Amino acid sequence: MKCIICGNLFPSETSFCSLFSFERYCAKCKVILAQKSTFESIPFDNGLLDYVSIYGQQFISLEKEIYFFQGYEETLKLAIFGPYKYDVILFIDQIEYNLFSNWFEYVKKFGRILLMSLTYFDFSSYMMIF
Ligand SMILES: [Zn+2]
Repeated sequence: MKCIICGNLFPSETSFCSLFSFERYCAKCKVILAQKSTFESIPFDNGLLDYVSIYGQQFISLEKEIYFFQGYEETLKLAIFGPYKYDVILFIDQIEYNLFSNWFEYVKKFGRILLMSLTYFDFSSYMMIF
């Protein structure tokens, strides 16, 4: 079989039970998809930044990120229908993380912010900004 995410070929056992239900993901991609999301709340001077990392410390290359966007679904549902009302909801990747100190000055004027990313980013290096 061919993984629909990474395109790698992987062995799959075909039986009468799996005749019409093919394996879609290789073992490596299954591990990434099975990761539980992490949640952090980071207070700053006039608000609260909630940060959700969908797949934790797994490495996902930029060109493959689009295949993992389905992981945002649960967090978006929580953001829209959950108990907290967010003023700003942002998706970030490596580029936005590297430029965090540049753009956060403008966003921090809002009270409650939700950041989401596929992989985990450590915001402790930006604590001086908060
Ligand atoms: Zn794969």
